[in-house]
Amino acid sequence: MTDIDIISRATWGAKPWDGNPAHVALSQRREFFVHYDGGHEVSRTGYAIMRAIEAEHLGQGWAGVGYNFVVDQAGNIYEGRGWERQGAHCPNHNISGIGVQIAIGGDQKPSAKALAACRALYEEACRKTGRTLSKKGHKDGFATACPGKHLYAWVQAGMPAGDYKPAPDPGGSLPSSGAEVARYKVTIGGLEYGYGAYGDHVTRIGKALVKRGFGRHYTSGPGPRWTDADTLNYAEFQKSLGYTGKAADGIPGEASLKELLGTLPSKVTAKPSPPKFPGRDKFGPGKSNTYITQLGQQLVRKGYGKHYKQGPGPKWSEADRRNVQDFQRAQGWSGSGADGLPGPETWARLFS
Ligand SMILES: [Zn+2]
Repeated sequence: MTDIDIISRATWGAKPWDGNPAHVALSQRREFFVHYDGGHEVSRTGYAIMRAIEAEHLGQGWAGVGYNFVVDQAGNIYEGRGWERQGAHCPNHNISGIGVQIAIGGDQKPSAKALAACRALYEEACRKTGRTLSKKGHKDGFATACPGKHLYAWVQAGMPAGDYKPAPDPGGSLPSSGAEVARYKVTIGGLEYGYGAYGDHVTRIGKALVKRGFGRHYTSGPGPRWTDADTLNYAEFQKSLGYTGKAADGIPGEASLKELLGTLPSKVTAKPSPPKFPGRDKFGPGKSNTYITQLGQQLVRKGYGKHYKQGPGPKWSEADRRNVQDFQRAQGWSGSGADGLPGPETWARLFS
């Protein structure tokens, strides 16, 4: 457990509360919200950050700084509303949610120290409340761009932090960058890799890692969303190539990617894989499910929808059967091969 030092209101020079923020018991907390400062980069440092936020929030008629805490790029944690005062950071979530601003804005990237401090604060919040608080970005509770793309991707990835090692993973440690700026997502060939990345190309990386013997951190998957397990496995792969330190941070680079896959995938060549065949028992008279809708829509897309008077929809109809049959006959099949009921081969060809 990282020790956390919180710089008190008295230390950074807060003005007295203008009004009296309501008391909230720790037991009422359910969520942990991450914020940024808005569209503009933050160039202030130290206590000036807090005084600027305070001036702004007092100007909005609030009692003082609306966030429960603020974290700066040096990794300092400042007290705003603190643990047990109601915040003013996200409508409808100021009691259930602890709001923390990381003092960056616009396209600014959070430093490794800021992320580690925020993660440590989250762990402390869970410890104090006695529950696992859900990790959220401001936009999860309110229509806003906050906390910006970098922090939101980080929250969605589970708030990994170089200096913070999650307890449930005794097998490995997160890559510790030591760098001022965390490298946690890259774009290569138009495709994203790292925290926040999503897609079939991510699954492909995971499968390739498993094949090469670097899959021990997967407890489920590999899947399309980039997770800590992907980072940890990829880091081990990088080390096997002789990379050390920051070069083995678990985020792909062109060279290691080419080594892993034999080729560099690009957005143009990456083809979505067809949906998995759900099973013969999903189709036929009396059946109703989303696979039937999916089937019908794909038939229409491929030009085999002429028997639909309405729909396609979830309820199996004679029109479904006849459209499937047309498609099967177009494959050169006949007899039981063109019975109008989709099997794996019909499905694969239809979605290829
Ligand atoms: Zn916000």
